[in-house]
Parts: sequence; C-alpha cells; structure tokens
Amino acid sequence: MEYAIFPMKTISISQGYSSSHKAFDCNGSSGDRTTKDYWYAPCTLKVLKLLDKEQSGYYNTILFGTCDEKGNQASVMCEDGIARVLTFACTHMDTVDWDTFNHKENDIIPSGAACYREGFTGLNETNPSHGNHVHMEVGLGWQYKKQSDHYLKDTLLSDGRTVIGNTFYQLKGFNSVGFQGTQGYTFKEVSSRKVEDSGSTTPTTPPSTNTNLKLVATKQAFRIRSSVVSGSIITTIAVGGSVPITEFLGIQSDGYQWVKVNHNGTSGYSQLDTYNCYTIKK
Ligand SMILES: [Zn+2]
Repeated sequence: MEYAIFPMKTISISQGYSSSHKAFDCNGSSGDRTTKDYWYAPCTLKVLKLLDKEQSGYYNTILFGTCDEKGNQASVMCEDGIARVLTFACTHMDTVDWDTFNHKENDIIPSGAACYREGFTGLNETNPSHGNHVHMEVGLGWQYKKQSDHYLKDTLLSDGRTVIGNTFYQLKGFNSVGFQGTQGYTFKEVSSRKVEDSGSTTPTTPPSTNTNLKLVATKQAFRIRSSVVSGSIITTIAVGGSVPITEFLGIQSDGYQWVKVNHNGTSGYSQLDTYNCYTIKK
C-alpha cells in the first residue's frame, strides 16, 4: 500500500477548510502565488474526470482517484493511520499547461509524477482567481458532484473531521514546510512512498496491526459476519455499541472497505462505512 504524500514540494497553504471552502489552497515555493509549481501525484492515480474552462465554471479542473497500477480502485494510507479510497479535485490550471499535460480520462499516473500545475483560471479572462495556486478538494471514495464552486460532496468524516486534514504525510527529501505556513495542519514524516518499506520512520506499522481502534455504531447498527460481504450474521451491534478492530482489510467486492473485529473473543467481519454510519475511535 502507498502513503498519501503531500502533492507539492513546498507545503504552503494559504486557505484551509471551512464550510464555504471545502479545500486546501496550495501555493508554490514563493508562498505568495507568483510562481507556478507542479502538483505531484500523492499516490498512484487514475484520471477520473476532465473539466476544462471552456465549460462554464469549471476552471480547468481534474478529478483524480486513488488506484492500483492497473487502474482499479485502491486504498491509500492516510495520515491518521486509516486506509481510504479517495478522490482529489484540482482546480485553476492554466490552459497552456492543460494542453501540455494533455491528460485523458482513465490515464494512470504513477505516484510522484508531476500531473498538475498551479494557475489562476477563474470565472473568465478578466476575473481570474487570485494568483497562481491549486484549489484542492479531497473526498471519500471515487466521486464527483459539482455544486457551486466545489466538485466533491463527501469531504467530511463521520466524526466531523475533514478528510483533507487527515490525509497527507510529508515525504523526507521531497516536501519542505514553509512560507505562508500550514494553517494549523500537521503532516507526519515518512521516508518512502510505500508503507511496507518505510524504514524506521513513523509510522512503521500499517493499521492492520493497530488494535487500539474501535468501530462504534454512531448513527446506525452494524452487523458482524462470519466472512466479508456474504458471510452469515454472527451478531448485530446496536447504536452506541462498539467492538475492537483487529485488522483493516481494504475494499471488498461490495465496494466497501471491511474490517476484522473481535466480538467477545470471536473474530468477525464488518463493513466500514465511516461516512454514513460508523465511527472509529481509540
Ligand atoms: Zn480554494
């Protein structure tokens, strides 16, 4: 599995997440929106959707989805220690750069490859955005929903945290923190793009071995099954109940991530629907 690595060499965030701005605004090395730095694939990505500025209100936007080397949907390790399938929506690239990259939908981009560049495409030629930057949204699953100036719908976790604030690691030798700061966001350091050869930096263990987390039925009850997807139902955990998570199993054939849990000493399996139903707690 890959880590989600902060996608610009300089971590410089001029605007963070709020109810009216569900995104990071990332500046380049100048920190003041005068330079045009590249956005590098935070992990292996698939081009899900291209929305060029010829379409009203789209400002040269690309939606990238996390995937494996064959382009199949895949989870990426997020900075809070939980693996998730994600969509990244990037907005404002200049049309010259857009033509240079010449992306096509379904293109597969290796982790770390330059695949977007800061720009300031805006409402129109006389009303551009305020200087070069990448407006970047991060959402759960592969998704697209244009709504006002946003491109993704699910940018919140069930406990109210933002996906964007819990996603990115910084990679030793690649990212540097600087200039206009990070708007209070923090980024744990790793020394590799891959979880399995991460050396001695933290975290060295993927959450598959993390037994300090619990799956909590916050909004609705969940079932524990004898195996993933179609196993028989062992028990149902009512709202308010919880069970320890012993292993994260990734996305299964039903499209959901599953976890292995321990129910009174017996192993079972449960869907992980952290956006709609359940919460993970320490
Ligand atoms: Zn923005």
